[in-house]
Amino acid sequence: MGMFTIGNLTATRIEESYEPNFDAARFFPDWRPEVVHEHRDWMVSDHYDPATGMLKLSVHSWLLKIGAKNILIDTCVGNDKPRAHRPMWHLMRTPYLERLAAAGVRPEQIDLVMCTHLHVDHIGWNTRLENGKWVPTFPNAKYVFSREDYEHYLALDRDPRTGPVNGGSFRDSVLPVVEAGLAQMVTGAGALDEYLSYDPAPGHTPGTIAINLAAKGARATFCGDILHHGVQVYHPEWNSFACADAANARISRRRILEQCAGSGALLLPAHFGAPFVCHIDAKGDRFAPRF
Ligand SMILES: [Zn+2]
Repeated sequence: MGMFTIGNLTATRIEESYEPNFDAARFFPDWRPEVVHEHRDWMVSDHYDPATGMLKLSVHSWLLKIGAKNILIDTCVGNDKPRAHRPMWHLMRTPYLERLAAAGVRPEQIDLVMCTHLHVDHIGWNTRLENGKWVPTFPNAKYVFSREDYEHYLALDRDPRTGPVNGGSFRDSVLPVVEAGLAQMVTGAGALDEYLSYDPAPGHTPGTIAINLAAKGARATFCGDILHHGVQVYHPEWNSFACADAANARISRRRILEQCAGSGALLLPAHFGAPFVCHIDAKGDRFAPRF
């Protein structure tokens, strides 16, 4: 858990999992063992497990409280989801909703769900299994995500050569929300209220959005998978194996780092290890995280 203050607002990390989970050299095609030596002081062992050579990527949501409103950003993998393509996430059972309750929020008290993109580990708790059916976990919420991602994955999902897409997650975690009339798809840049806005940041997926928060002069950016790991702050040119469009993923990553360095915004990624957030310092065209 962890709670961070942005102006008069708070963002609380709701953990689903946090353990060594992805082989570093497979996750980052540009990975070199030397980076562990260069960055040992912050990387080992909250962000990298030297015994296994695995990255330690957290999977969590951010719970934002804006006045009486509860907003959940990215919804992890979810319980009971068949994920044969990714055994560690197959039919998972975690006390995620209990952790949300420990932060003072029941599912029916969530007003807004925002997904930075529609990959399997950002949409899972959109739905839960009830009497053999996938139903929205947050029945009183509007679910905001990009129309571009939706249309992209809908086309792939319907095509028998590529569907079911994203390990089946589009069917069990996105379509039921749309069918229930709870989806609010967005295109381009826009604002949801006086505090929250979003910007297109394509690359990791075609419709990835960055979510920005401004409160009493303080700023924060929820970057989803525009960056997965702290090492990408030093190496913005490093894409993950899961980045769909290599050139645009690099452009969007560098833009987020420039914006955070320039504005002093707190960066709240979806997968960084402890302490899970950082500020960004810039020196020339290089960046460094300040944890
Ligand atoms: Zn992710």
